[in-house]
Amino acid sequence: MAGLLEQLKKASRLPSPPGAALQILRLAQQEDVSLAEVAETLSSDPALSVRILKYANSALVGVAREITTVREAVVMLGMRTVRMMALSFSLVSVKDRRACPGFDYPRFWAHCLAHAVAARHLARKGRQVSPEEAFAAGLLASIGKLVFAVAMPAEYSEIIRQAGGFLADTAGLEQQRFGMNHQRAGAELLRDWGIPARLCAAVRYQSNLKDASLSADVLELATVVSEARPYIDIICAPPVQTPQGEGTEEAGPPRPGGHLEELIEAMRREFRELADLLLLDKTAELDVDQIQAEAGEVLSELSLAAQLRSDAVEREKQDLQERVRRDPLTGIANRGAFDRELDRMWQELARAHRSIGLILLDIDYFKRFNDRFGHRTGDAVLREVACCLPKCCRSVDFAARYGGEEFAILLPNADRLIAANVSVGIRRAVEALQIQFEGQSHRVTVSLGTAVLPRAGLPYTPQMLIDAADQQLYRSKGKGRNCCSMIQLPARPPEVLVGAV
Ligand code: GH3
Ligand code: MG
Ligand code: MG
Repeated sequence: MAGLLEQLKKASRLPSPPGAALQILRLAQQEDVSLAEVAETLSSDPALSVRILKYANSALVGVAREITTVREAVVMLGMRTVRMMALSFSLVSVKDRRACPGFDYPRFWAHCLAHAVAARHLARKGRQVSPEEAFAAGLLASIGKLVFAVAMPAEYSEIIRQAGGFLADTAGLEQQRFGMNHQRAGAELLRDWGIPARLCAAVRYQSNLKDASLSADVLELATVVSEARPYIDIICAPPVQTPQGEGTEEAGPPRPGGHLEELIEAMRREFRELADLLLLDKTAELDVDQIQAEAGEVLSELSLAAQLRSDAVEREKQDLQERVRRDPLTGIANRGAFDRELDRMWQELARAHRSIGLILLDIDYFKRFNDRFGHRTGDAVLREVACCLPKCCRSVDFAARYGGEEFAILLPNADRLIAANVSVGIRRAVEALQIQFEGQSHRVTVSLGTAVLPRAGLPYTPQMLIDAADQQLYRSKGKGRNCCSMIQLPARPPEVLVGAV
């Protein structure tokens, strides 16, 4: 039995009526198509419904609750996704459908559709079942037959022959031949495809409600599917001309009058609308190759559009990341980016047993400057100082705005000489700056504190490097400002040495 299911799973690409492909093609080409229209078309085709529900319920999409109707699936997945999926699914070949003689695809699709319509109507009549869910369950109720026809065409053809038609009761023969009937097989596959358990149970137990220990709501759904079955033939029967040639008379069983007649008439009308939509009567006349070629084209256009959209999203994401990284006033890296870069650089250098240097610099008497020339002039100074930093650094160095009027520069693989050169270069460059703002020229100086560690990594931490540079900055301020102070940290910090003795 497990082997049978494995074999049936290979039939996961079930054919759709070519009319469905054509309709979806039309919908895909209209920009302003409504969600209801798309849902209606998709939900009229069993194979497509399975696909859409399967996708909407898949772990990939990650919804918390189960999606049991195509309309919900369309809302959740969004029109674009659904259109693309529908087009690609409807491309499933219907060419080799003659492989299972006796299985009449258009009649099968009509049968499924009629079952769905009948179930929806019954559900609307005060049942505790959502009409759309009943529609989906009715539509999928016979999917097992399609699966048998596609996966085991020769064997199934023989069963159809023995049963006297593919819509005859084939269950006993299926059970004999395959070890399970199409309702069980359909339900097992639906379950395997991730279709919600309620729908699977309704499909499986539609003919043996008493055997199943179903919860009340699932039993109600299965009951609706079961009770819809007798209506299928009446709904599907083609209209025939009366002998007088006036109006149409329905074929099929004699119909009772009253409410039941109205109900059947309503079902028939709805069925015809949907069948016309899917061009079920015209399946033989449709140029399948042409439809598939067109659908393929639209599909590739849609995927191209999706690609372009995702490129735009990617650019936006990068922009955003860039904005998150940058300090808006000066345009250089901000404190967050500095912290991340210090961590990253520290780890990289520690692995390679390489040195690291850090310069902290602070504008001198900046509060006084602001008070005297105004905050906006102060901002211009901050921009100019920030702008001058990269010019004094090597390309591998990383400059950031560390705080208000403080900046930090990371110097990977730097020894004392390199660190001293960069520090002194910055001090001189800032001192030489003539900052023009609103017709006035301004000058500022900076104090710098530099720490160099011959080997990044334990027993030091990044914070210890920052603290050491900060102490040197404090020293520079103490020495009268506009100067540099530097320390080279010993390979092991003193307290570690003490601890080791
Ligand atoms: P010191 O030489 O000791 O560093 O003196 P200072 O005045 O620079 O030091 P203090 O830390 O007291 O003052 C820093 C000032 O920097 C205070 C604040 O007004 C100014 N400041 C901080 N951020 C900004 C900014 O974004 N724009 C402007 N214009 N000023 C800022
Ligand atoms: Mg300061
Ligand atoms: Mg300052």
